[in-house]
Amino acid sequence: MKRRIQTKKRITNNTYLTTVKKLFFLLALLAVQIKAHSWGFFGHRKINYYSVFLLPPEMMVLYKSQIDFLTEHSTDPDKRRYAVSNEAPKHYLDIDHYGTYPYNDLPKKWTDAVAKYGQDSLNAHGIVPWWVQTMMNRLTASFKEKNQAKILKYSAEIGHYIADAHVPLHASSNHDGQLTDQKGIHAFWESRLPELLADKEWDFFIGKADYIQRPGEFIWTRFLESAKASDTVLHFEKTLSQKYPDDKKYGFENRNGVVIRQYSSEYSNEYNRMLNGMVERRMRQAIYCVASFWYTAWVNAGQPDLSKLSNKEFSAEDLKEFEELNNQWKGGKIQGREE
Ligand SMILES: [Zn+2]
Repeated sequence: MKRRIQTKKRITNNTYLTTVKKLFFLLALLAVQIKAHSWGFFGHRKINYYSVFLLPPEMMVLYKSQIDFLTEHSTDPDKRRYAVSNEAPKHYLDIDHYGTYPYNDLPKKWTDAVAKYGQDSLNAHGIVPWWVQTMMNRLTASFKEKNQAKILKYSAEIGHYIADAHVPLHASSNHDGQLTDQKGIHAFWESRLPELLADKEWDFFIGKADYIQRPGEFIWTRFLESAKASDTVLHFEKTLSQKYPDDKKYGFENRNGVVIRQYSSEYSNEYNRMLNGMVERRMRQAIYCVASFWYTAWVNAGQPDLSKLSNKEFSAEDLKEFEELNNQWKGGKIQGREE
């Protein structure tokens, strides 16, 4: 009798398990994928926000009072990817296309790189470290013009591109693990981990911005660190995923009324431990770099008094662009590579 009951219980358990599994796969089918974004919107907002606190008081006058704008518009470049097809390559560079680390065959100076490969070919594989320098020139020019609207717009946007250059998978052609059966790893590293851990565990009080003598060399150094780390990012996740069955690797979460499937907290924490704080470290470095580039642009423009600027209001054209970016992002389809 006892034996029979046990058997029955086991059968019930098995049925239960099968039902749970079925439900799991059903949910997996129904699950809505969140739109993937570089550093996630969460990460970009944090990076621009915290960068403000590294600035000297002369800059804080403007940046602290405009911190909401700088945070909000940190994601404009990603939104622009829904509007313009030539936006995508500004966010990454598949540097492994040019050989192996430290990629000495690829000229780090834009004009030399263009002479060697041609602009179209460079664009096809991404241009983020060069684009940061273009944005730096624009920001410096707007400080010289004492044009507040432009200073804010370019500050918010350069913060985005600098942050992207700090992400290892923005420096690899296997940018979403699509070549190694690890699809989803891009958002896992740069969105899921920060969203899970940044507010609870990570520290973003970093000290002061520095003057950067050679911004071009500086951003290339950061970018090459990203390139070097991309193998580790992929390799560790591969190793970990081999130890986890799918139902432990993924979990479901209700987000604004929508059930989404994502990497489970347990799996995420374990990955973060393996990476030994890499995501937090890269985020901190991005914050330091953003603040230091803002500061350097201001110094190179002759340290204009930021309490006496012109063009304080955004033009009708700017406001229209902000609105259109939002609309296109909400309803549109990303142009070019998705990440
Ligand atoms: Zn981006």
